[in-house]
Amino acid sequence: MPQVTTLKNAAERLVEIGRDFHRRGWALGTSGNFSIVIERDPLILAITESSVDKSRLRAEQILCVDGSGKPLEGVTGKPSAETLIHVAIARALNAGAVLHTHSVWSTILSDFHAGRAGFFIEQYEMLKGLRDVHTHEHREWLPILENSQDMEAISTQVTLLLTEAPVPHGLLIRRHGLYTWGSDIDEAVRHVEILEFLLESVGRRQMMEPPAL
Ligand SMILES: [Zn+2]
Repeated sequence: MPQVTTLKNAAERLVEIGRDFHRRGWALGTSGNFSIVIERDPLILAITESSVDKSRLRAEQILCVDGSGKPLEGVTGKPSAETLIHVAIARALNAGAVLHTHSVWSTILSDFHAGRAGFFIEQYEMLKGLRDVHTHEHREWLPILENSQDMEAISTQVTLLLTEAPVPHGLLIRRHGLYTWGSDIDEAVRHVEILEFLLESVGRRQMMEPPAL
């Protein structure tokens, strides 16, 4: 059963997500990109087209790419510049969906903590919204990778990061944004909501009392 969902269903959902995330300030302008796995073997992803405004995302701006990030035959339009990162995550974790936001808090915190290549989020009740987390005492390490326009290099680092335990629920790219994922699109959306809430909480708290680094 290689087919997970149809392009039509995936596109409808991603259009809704694009508009929602834009309204919430997580994907302003053309920023952010989103994908859903529509076939598993061989891997095919439905992904947002490059440089499209997320407030006016349309179903025809969702394109199919193969397991190497290339558009399927007959596809017109250029898939997101960050397609290779989506493919790397879908492969490494067998994820069903990958979502990438450019929020203010992920941008600020990924810069502030870049020197330690990540930071812990702990003791927040909202952590329980992450997959397999059942207590606020969970310590979530959110890794940070340096930003680059070399997507092949970033996707290689992402693969390495996700093959080491414990596997995080998301990762940050410095002064750029958040990547998270899920076994399906509902779980991936929940992870964006939870992680964006936690990032804002951590960021606002640090403004009251900056941590000693
Ligand atoms: Zn981005």
